[in-house]
Amino acid sequence: MASQEIEALSGALARLPGLGPRSARRAVLWLIKRRETALPQLLNALTQVQELLVECEVCGNVDTANPCGICTDPRRDQRSICVVEEVADLWALDRARLFTGKYHVLGGRLSALEGVRPEDLTIGQLLDRVGHGGIDEVVLAMNATLEGQTTAHYIAERLEDAPVRVTQLAHGLPVGGELDYLDEGTLAQALRARRPVG
Ligand SMILES: [Zn+2]
Repeated sequence: MASQEIEALSGALARLPGLGPRSARRAVLWLIKRRETALPQLLNALTQVQELLVECEVCGNVDTANPCGICTDPRRDQRSICVVEEVADLWALDRARLFTGKYHVLGGRLSALEGVRPEDLTIGQLLDRVGHGGIDEVVLAMNATLEGQTTAHYIAERLEDAPVRVTQLAHGLPVGGELDYLDEGTLAQALRARRPVG
């Protein structure tokens, strides 16, 4: 029987995406063996994340500043917004500076199955940003899943009367493809070949 402390930590780690109970327990044992080296590093990193990271009120990115570094960067194209499902997608696109404009993180995708409605996402905030003017292009960079594409169509419809060009990542993304898992070449190609919605 493991101690209560080990059970508690294993339980907390097992809730992380991609980790099950077995790998969580292995991670705990690994950390116990390295309580002088790796454990303090992990504790420090976790504290930093808790104390310093905030969600950007404008775009939904996670950063040490609010508004985030991307929103306040004057070198970026102020006139285009790339809409993504999750922060991980933003980071994937921004890793190689594939997109030089601003971003908007929806916080998920529409899903009848999971009961995710438009008001559960930041679609209203996106419409507000576009409504304030000064935006030429909205790039819909949803994942190539059914739910991602449903979300893209919904947003395109809501933007139909706005004076902006609405484009979408080129197909050719693997079906069911999540942006976060694509290599930079594939992402760059999908972005370059983006096309108008409709
Ligand atoms: Zn931001």
